[in-house]
Amino acid sequence: MTIALRLSDTVSGIAVISDDGDFVCEQTFLPEIDYQLLLRQISSLISGLTANTTTGITAGPPANASPSTALGLCVSDLRYTSNGSVTSAAFPFLDDKPLMRDLQAATGLTSAIGNDAQCLGLGARQHDNETLFSLVIDKDLSGAIIMNGRLVKGRNHHAGQITHTPLPFPVPFELDGSVCSCGRTGCLTHFISLPGIEKDYKQLTNTDKSADNIIADATKGDIIADSVIQVLEDRIARALAPVINLLDPDHIIISGQAADKNRLPAILPRKWPGYIVADKPTTEITIITDRHVPCLNGAASLVLQKT
Ligand SMILES: [Zn+2]
Repeated sequence: MTIALRLSDTVSGIAVISDDGDFVCEQTFLPEIDYQLLLRQISSLISGLTANTTTGITAGPPANASPSTALGLCVSDLRYTSNGSVTSAAFPFLDDKPLMRDLQAATGLTSAIGNDAQCLGLGARQHDNETLFSLVIDKDLSGAIIMNGRLVKGRNHHAGQITHTPLPFPVPFELDGSVCSCGRTGCLTHFISLPGIEKDYKQLTNTDKSADNIIADATKGDIIADSVIQVLEDRIARALAPVINLLDPDHIIISGQAADKNRLPAILPRKWPGYIVADKPTTEITIITDRHVPCLNGAASLVLQKT
């Protein structure tokens, strides 16, 4: 039995997942923006959710927690610092806090944590013997590597995290010097993200439009919106080119609000020969558009891996 919890600046949710991977119950919630209040909120949510299940598990105070129950936490834009703590631009009050220790103390549950791409990759992997690269395109961009059914963390805990690496094969207008949130220029997340889509649209039209509406308009055949999405797709192909050249994964899983299951699986393989060494790539591509479930499921998988 696993409690899977996702903290995001878009949709946050919590679920109880059985050992068979079935969602026993789930709900969305608005996270507190204070560290101590958030810990209490999570503990209260777990107690309330598990009390309503028929599984007999209890959580909350450590004395009542079942030893077989674990908590998996997926946090958007999660990064790891050199001292082992975590940071998230979406939840800055988490910075330098011993989140894992405090979560376990507050809930009594063995806890594990990952970012969107890590949880997506672990949750959506199809075979334990495949090399997988997962990519989540939302307000931010995140990537992760799964090998032999396990998350590859890397020596510095940043394996697969391509967020703030430069956009490959840039054309002149992409070298405009716009500064990323990390202080550098030309980062992938600056181009391949919902804000990146909105920025491109505004440059073309001088009007503001949400990424959701731009994506929807492109689907309806709006020429300008479609041109923005075509540029995005080419950038996704370029972003994945070094991944294929270095890692050559069997499988690439893409999710997030900007992941179009009707376009990307066909378009990316057509673009790759211009950017990668392999002339006829057979890399499998899966687009997951139901982002809520796999992320929660991924959080569960992260816990299962750790325990
Ligand atoms: Zn950056």
